Amino acid sequence: MKIINNIKEIRKQVKDWKNDGLSVALVPTMGYLHEGHESLIKKASEDNDRVIVSIFVNPMQFGINEDLSTYPRNIDRDSDICEKNGASLIFNPSVEEMYTDEFSTFVDLNNLTSGLCGKSRPTHFRGVCTVVSKLFNIVNPDKAYFGQKDAQQLSIIKQMVIDLNFDIEIVSCAIVREADGLAKSSRNTYLSKEERQAATIINKSLKKAKSLIKSGERDSKKIINFIKNEISKEPLAKIDYISTVDNKSIKSVRTIEDGSLIAVAVFIGNTRLIDNFIYE
Ligand code: AMP
Repeated sequence: MKIINNIKEIRKQVKDWKNDGLSVALVPTMGYLHEGHESLIKKASEDNDRVIVSIFVNPMQFGINEDLSTYPRNIDRDSDICEKNGASLIFNPSVEEMYTDEFSTFVDLNNLTSGLCGKSRPTHFRGVCTVVSKLFNIVNPDKAYFGQKDAQQLSIIKQMVIDLNFDIEIVSCAIVREADGLAKSSRNTYLSKEERQAATIINKSLKKAKSLIKSGERDSKKIINFIKNEISKEPLAKIDYISTVDNKSIKSVRTIEDGSLIAVAVFIGNTRLIDNFIYE
C-alpha cells in the first residue's frame, strides 16, 4: 500500500486521477483501524474509482487532559487493512506537514457544536472542522465517508460543507458493533477485561430505550431518565451526557419524533465512549 506523507505529492496524484476521469473518495481517520473504519473504506471502494484513507491523529481536536499521547497507532497494521478493503493509498502526514509554526486559521461553527460532545470537549469540533477542511482542500475528493457513530460530527460536517460550499458529497455509514453490541472504537483497546464487560451497558441501555420509544413513550425526559437508571446499574460507568436532540440541528427535543438522535457519552473507568441511535 502506497503511503504518502506529503501534501504536494497527494495533490499531484489526485490531479492525475481526475485528469484520467476517475472519481476520488476520502475516508478521514485517526488510524488504528477496526471494522468500523473498514466499512467506510469498503463502501468508498464500491462507490468510487480511487479511495484515499487519511490517517492523522489531529492534535487540535484533543483537549489538554485528553489522550493524544496515548492514542493507539500502528501504521503497518492499518496499511494491511486499507489494502484488504480496496483503498488506493494512505495519506499519513506529520503534524508539521499539516500545521506550520505560523498556523492561525480555524474553522468553527456557531451552532451544532455547543451541546453533546461539544459541551464536555469545548475545543474538539473546532479541531475536527479545521482538519477536515484542510483534508478536503488537500485531497479535493468527490465524496467523503463518515460514520454515524460520531453522529454530532457527521451533522456538523454536513453543515460545514453547505456553509463553506465544498463541492463534496458526504456519505454516512452505519455504526459497526462488536457481537455484544458495543460500538467499535479505537479507544476500546484502553479497556481492561472488567471494563470491556461493563461497557456493554451502554448499548444495552440504548436498545431498551429504543424499545420503550417504539412501545409509545415519546417524552424525552422520561427516556433520558430511563437510560440514566439503566447505565447507573453498572458501577464502573460514569455518565458524561444523555441527550435527545434533532439529528440535523443538534437542538434539544422535548418529544422524540422521526429524526430524533438519542446520544450518550459514558466513562468506563477513564475511557470515554460514545454511542447513539436515530429514532425513525
Ligand atoms: P476515528 O478514527 O475514530 O476518527 O474515526 C474515523 C471515522 O470512522 C469517523 O467517520 C467515524 O465516525 C468512523 N467510525 C469510527 N468507529 C465507527 C464504527 N464503530 N462504525 C462506523 N463508523 C465508525
